[in-house]
Amino acid sequence: MESSERPQRHLLTIESLAQKELDALIRRACELADGARPEKISAAVANLFFEPSTRTRVSFELAAARLGMTMVSIELDRSSSTKGESLEDTAATLAAMGIDGLVLRHPETGRPQRLAREVSPRLHLLNGGDGTGEHPSQALLDAATLVASGLDLGAATIAIVGDIRHSRVARSGLQLLSRLSVGELRIAGPAELLPEVVPVPGVIVCHSLDEALENADVVMMLRVQRERMDAAGWPDQAAYHGQWGLVESRLARAAPGCRVMHPGPINRGMEIAAAVADGPRSLILDQVRMGVFMRMAIFEWMFED
Ligand code: ASP
Repeated sequence: MESSERPQRHLLTIESLAQKELDALIRRACELADGARPEKISAAVANLFFEPSTRTRVSFELAAARLGMTMVSIELDRSSSTKGESLEDTAATLAAMGIDGLVLRHPETGRPQRLAREVSPRLHLLNGGDGTGEHPSQALLDAATLVASGLDLGAATIAIVGDIRHSRVARSGLQLLSRLSVGELRIAGPAELLPEVVPVPGVIVCHSLDEALENADVVMMLRVQRERMDAAGWPDQAAYHGQWGLVESRLARAAPGCRVMHPGPINRGMEIAAAVADGPRSLILDQVRMGVFMRMAIFEWMFED
C-alpha cells in the first residue's frame, strides 16, 4: 500500500488509545521480542528532538531500520529551526519531501497535540515526550517489559518513586497501568516533587520510600528532573540518596523477587545505588531492549493497512 493511501494515526497520549489497541501493542511487542518476524513497511519517518535523548531516539531509529523503513534524525542545531523556522513549517517541509511520520520530543507540554491539529492530514505524529506531559511509548514499553517478565499485573503492587511532579513517564505510566487493572498503584517522593493533583484515581500516595516499598512487586525509580526546576529547587544529592535512594538494604522490605525499573537516564548514587541498578532484580536493560520492539509494534500499528 502506498503511504499516501494509508489511514493516518497519531500516538500522542495513552488516553487516545483504545483498550484493544493498548493490549495489541503490548502483545505484539512481546511477540517481536520473542522472535516474531516483523512486517516490512514502506514509509519514511523523521526524528525531531528538541530535548536530549539516547534511548528513545536510537530505539525509534533501530525500530524503523528493522522494519525496512526510511528514518532520518534531524540535528536541531543544524536545522532551519535555528534560523527561526516554526515547527509547523518544519513539519510541512518534511511532509512535502515525502516524510510520512514525525517522532517529536519537545520541552513544551502539549506541543505534539498542537502540531497534530496543524499537520493532521499530512503526517502521522508520535509523541516522543512532551515537557511534563506524556511519554506514551515509554509507558507501553514498561508495561510490555513487565508482561514479558511473567508478572501477573492484576495481582501486582507497583510503586513509582522520585520526581513524580515533573515526570511524563509517571503520568503516562500511571494512566496505562491503571487501565491494565494493576492490583495496587503507589507513588512516593519528597513533598515538593509530588504532583498537586494525583493524575489517576485510586493511586496511593506514600510519604517515605519504606512505605512505598512495603511488599511491592515492582518499584520504578525516577530521575530528579533538574532541567525542569530552577537551581533553588534542586535537592542535595547526598541527602536525597539517603532518604529516597534505592539501596539494597531497603529493597528487603519489598516482596521477594521485586522487580526494579528505571526509564533512564539513571543517576547512580542519587535515586538508585549502582549495586541495585546492576543487580539481579534490575529490569533496566530489559526496558531498553523492549523499547526497540515496542517502537516496532507502534510503527506497525501506525502504518498498518
Ligand atoms: N527519559 C525519560 C524522559 O524523557 C525519563 C527522564 O528523562 O528522566 O522523560
